[in-house]
Amino acid sequence: MVSNAARIAGRHFLQIPGPTPVPDRILRAMDMPTIDHRGPEFQKLGRRVLDGMKSIFKCAGPVIIYPASGTGAWEAALVNVLNAGDKVLMFETGHFATLWKNMALKLGLQPEFIASDWRIGTDPAAIEARLRADKSHEIKAVCVVHNETSTGCITHVGEIRKAIDAAGHPALLMVDTISSLASIDYRHDEWGVDVTVSGSQKGLMLPPGLSFNALSEKALAAARASTMPKLFWSWEEMLPHNKNGFFPYTPGTNLLYGLAEAIDMLHEEGLENVFARHDRHAEATRRAVTAWGLEILCREPKYYSSSLTAVLMPEGQNADDFRRIALEKFDISLGTGLTKLAGRVFRIGHLGDTNDLTILGALAGVEMGLGLAGVPHKKGGVQAAMDYLAAQAKKAA
Ligand SMILES: *Cc1c(COP(=O)(O)O)cnc(C)c1O
Repeated sequence: MVSNAARIAGRHFLQIPGPTPVPDRILRAMDMPTIDHRGPEFQKLGRRVLDGMKSIFKCAGPVIIYPASGTGAWEAALVNVLNAGDKVLMFETGHFATLWKNMALKLGLQPEFIASDWRIGTDPAAIEARLRADKSHEIKAVCVVHNETSTGCITHVGEIRKAIDAAGHPALLMVDTISSLASIDYRHDEWGVDVTVSGSQKGLMLPPGLSFNALSEKALAAARASTMPKLFWSWEEMLPHNKNGFFPYTPGTNLLYGLAEAIDMLHEEGLENVFARHDRHAEATRRAVTAWGLEILCREPKYYSSSLTAVLMPEGQNADDFRRIALEKFDISLGTGLTKLAGRVFRIGHLGDTNDLTILGALAGVEMGLGLAGVPHKKGGVQAAMDYLAAQAKKAA
């Protein structure tokens, strides 16, 4: 029982799909005096992170770093390459795809939103069919969310690329990787993405406050022709400064120290190992959910997310009541259901700085919380996850 204690011992379990727990090593790396952002010491840091992020996006072109949340990087992607009234094609994977669509509308673009039920990722066939029908190439960009954080469904970006190419359509491809970068395999160049959007507080294990645009040559060419008003978000303002490791305005200096450390940590582990670890924790979580007899929101295994799992509550049960009890009794934060899914799902984040035992601790918190909240379920979820993780550990030995 932790609710009325003045101090809660141990670490809080921040099992939401972002922000994620910040490793001590990153906290220590940021614990530095803030330096002159026009001086030589900053220049080294600037070059290190601007260059280092290319290895995370797997791109050869420039990466822009904003002192802003992910929402800012969404806006930057749209205003740098498009023009007022442009049509953009989007797919309703869930809450975040809907927010990006609403932003496009507010900015004076014409988003076309392919409706879906929030239980799958983007359907490449639907994208291809719509682009084939757009004979006069009015659609200027296809915007998709790689990992829909509200539902736990991924979009296979390579398949979206193939769909655009199969339709012979010149639209730009823009991808939100805010909750997938450094957690789920991502390849900006190989998949022919023009603008990749990301943020600091999820797979990158940093506090909130930085966001990113990774750019292609085609995106840079579109930017030269774009007339949408912008200054803070303008790549044109940013890039000449970035060439020398600097920024046109004050950057998030201390967060950049943390970012340099995060990039090092990801490479020390190896990106492929980072992805495999996320895949493993996602599978362990799904085995637990299945053993509890609960339903995973994502309805097709090919769309399962390795960053988070959204779990449907049994009929008549409120997910937020359960989440509140789990927080009060076991000091664990689980993700809430967003908009359409409010009260109907809870989300287990398994991304960022996690290991087998933190996942098992989180699943134990969920299993005990379900019991205390009186949610009908079967026991044995944690056991199923342990069996799976132990078998994987044995295989790896
Ligand atoms: C978190 C998230 C956002 C919003 O990012 P903020 O940093 O909160 O502005 C957008 N898209 C996805 C997929 C996200 O997970």
